[in-house]
Amino acid sequence: MTSTYDLHMPATAREAIDLLARHGDDAHVMAGGTSLVLMMQQGLIRPAHVVSLHKVSELRGIRSTADGSLEIGALATHREIERSPLVRAHSAMLAEAFARIATVRIREQATLGGNLAHADPAQDPPPALIAVGALVLIQGPGPAREIPLEDLLVDIFTTSLEPGELIVGVRIPPLAAGTRAVYLKFLPRTEDDYATVSVAAAAVVAGDGTVRQLRVALGAVGATPIRARAAEAALLGLKADEKAIKAAAERAAEATDPIADGRGSAGYKRSMARVFTERALRAVLA
Ligand SMILES: Cc1cc2nc3c(=O)[nH]c(=O)nc-3n(C[C@H](O)[C@H](O)[C@H](O)COP(=O)(O)OP(=O)(O)OC[C@H]3O[C@@H](n4cnc5c(N)ncnc54)[C@H](O)[C@@H]3O)c2cc1C
Repeated sequence: MTSTYDLHMPATAREAIDLLARHGDDAHVMAGGTSLVLMMQQGLIRPAHVVSLHKVSELRGIRSTADGSLEIGALATHREIERSPLVRAHSAMLAEAFARIATVRIREQATLGGNLAHADPAQDPPPALIAVGALVLIQGPGPAREIPLEDLLVDIFTTSLEPGELIVGVRIPPLAAGTRAVYLKFLPRTEDDYATVSVAAAAVVAGDGTVRQLRVALGAVGATPIRARAAEAALLGLKADEKAIKAAAERAAEATDPIADGRGSAGYKRSMARVFTERALRAVLA
């Protein structure tokens, strides 16, 4: 059952940060509320103060910056990201990854910042964003900072945010000309389920077939999304043939540490990680 709490509705990010500083561990941020309210209903958290971001309009919006980066505000909903022409122009893969989340009802409500702060390793946006080199924009009591998304997600349901810090948005630098990217989500149960395994890959291949750039990230097969650096290193600078792709996918599977649950055993998920990495690599390197 939900306990009673004071609801605060700040109008700016600074006011929200000040409220968090004033109430410390007794306060929780609420964006779309899709995860927070469930956690409160289940008694997993009992905040005395809920700081809603609903009126903080500076955290909304999606824009291109002068250097060609894409900036997505923390309060952008999954649905806004999925439908944004700016996002699609920057990376169609990103728009498609957000379109794979749950149902339209959830996507209309849930926000980017809430998704990243929740740090569930089975979520869709993190591997897709890691594959395109996303940086997280953070504000808090100290100086504003910008960190690679990999450095935000440190353990299951755990981020590197300091007390009182807010995610204010995400910046995706311009992608190199000719970047090909794909997001694959393996869903053996229902279309609106969390991934059993997910793989995002982004690559640049030279005219002679040499792999010039490659980033591969996997979801749902460890405590955090996993950047498959050994798989990337196995292909960079080479002309990727089927044998090299299979060997790299094997490296990616070795980097996983899945748990057994209702979606499958650890061994099954590791095998699916290999199979889906192979498919993702074929898609971006062909
Ligand atoms: C039925 C259901 C199915 C789902 N299926 C999927 C799925 O298939 N794939 C997927 O990726 N996700 C899925 N989700 C998760 C969903 O994407 C997240 O619940 C959502 O993104 C959280 O965003 P929110 O705005 O609702 O966050 P909230 O619920 O408001 O907050 C979540 C957490 O983030 C913190 N927080 C929120 N905003 C910020 C911020 N700006 N800065 C710092 N901390 C913040 C809150 O304090 C809280 O701890 C599902 C959720 C539900 C309920």
